[in-house]
Amino acid sequence: MQSYFSALSHLECGRCGSGYDATAVQGLCSCGSPLLARYDLDRVAALVSPRDVGGRGPDLWRYHELLPVGDPARIVSLGEGMTPLLAMPRLGRALGLPGLLMKDESLVPTGTFKARGAAVGVSRAAELGVTGVAMPTNGNAGAAWALYAARGGLRSLIVMPAGAPAITRAECAAAGAELYLVDGLIGDAGRLIAAALPGRPGFQDVSTLKEPYRLEGKKTMGLEIAEQLGWRLPGVIVYPTGGGVGIIGIYKALLEMRELGWVTGDLPRLVAVQASGCAPIVTAFAGGARQSEPWPDARTVAFGITVPKALGDFLVLDALYATSGTAVAVDDEELLADQREVARLEGCFICPEGAACFSAVRRLRDSGWLSGSDEVVVLNTGTGLKYPDAVPVDVPLLAPADVLP
Ligand SMILES: *Cc1c(COP(=O)(O)O)cnc(C)c1O
Ligand SMILES: [Zn+2]
Repeated sequence: MQSYFSALSHLECGRCGSGYDATAVQGLCSCGSPLLARYDLDRVAALVSPRDVGGRGPDLWRYHELLPVGDPARIVSLGEGMTPLLAMPRLGRALGLPGLLMKDESLVPTGTFKARGAAVGVSRAAELGVTGVAMPTNGNAGAAWALYAARGGLRSLIVMPAGAPAITRAECAAAGAELYLVDGLIGDAGRLIAAALPGRPGFQDVSTLKEPYRLEGKKTMGLEIAEQLGWRLPGVIVYPTGGGVGIIGIYKALLEMRELGWVTGDLPRLVAVQASGCAPIVTAFAGGARQSEPWPDARTVAFGITVPKALGDFLVLDALYATSGTAVAVDDEELLADQREVARLEGCFICPEGAACFSAVRRLRDSGWLSGSDEVVVLNTGTGLKYPDAVPVDVPLLAPADVLP
């Protein structure tokens, strides 16, 4: 049989099911909802086995049949993917969860899992003839897309809140992005981008879920978790949720793997974690709602999950309901304490968003929602190095002649 690189067949609306041509640049469905990439999974099942995948290079492109890029020569890569799935034995013992694992996305290029979405999104955009990417961002996505755009020879237009982490500004500037700060939140940045685009031919609006391929990059976290467990699924996956692309992507990967026959049995219960200063999904889930209400006056140190109203909120909620999952909000003091606890017990300096997941695990274990025998995978979505001010450092300054106590 002929080998081929991508099994992408078409795009499908996540709400109304309308079909769209995947060989053209597409935005949202006419109903206003995100489009999802669909693949010829029968063909993949016939041609590829997990064993084949196991023999490929250690990056996310090992799953290329399930990714949208049709020509391997069009891949824009910095080596993203196949991050460690670490056992967390000392923290697990402290929490009463010996089966605690952490998928550590601090090791991807640009320091956050946003690189996965940027690698696949930029590659596919360029393959379809896009010459510039434009996006509002809380910082990490803008940095990743600006750098991958530079790698692929595309231009980038980025608008971020003035309060976004300073390092992400530096990354955009270094990459040669056209960068603006806005005295507001990510929604304000989005309005500025949308208004600027008609004057910029060749540019695509790559805002969260407004193009279909960032999600495909992020779904590879789900594929990797299964592969790294020996093509087996954990009991629970815990994810810090902002725009929701990561958790929607992981859920999509689970369904695709099950349809392919690469995994069997129950899907993991999915847990969406937010900060109590911005918890629209948690509130919607608690009320049994199908979508969220905009969160007023959003604020948290976990900047990457400060999303007051996500375009894909209904897809996140669907995934939580379908897997008997849950949604948890944690306070900033709690997650900052757990950021230090994870470093103290396991030597991992994780980001505040990842730390929020450990606070949620602590709560869920205390409430009994998690049992001691559950195998739990926490996503640490980035490195603590991007948030140098999150940890208070109070140390004595000595004169060279002083003596240590
Ligand atoms: C963007 C971001 C998130 C939230 O990701 P979504 O997939 O948009 O929900 C979590 N953690 C970090 C570090 C981020 O940058
Ligand atoms: Zn639709």
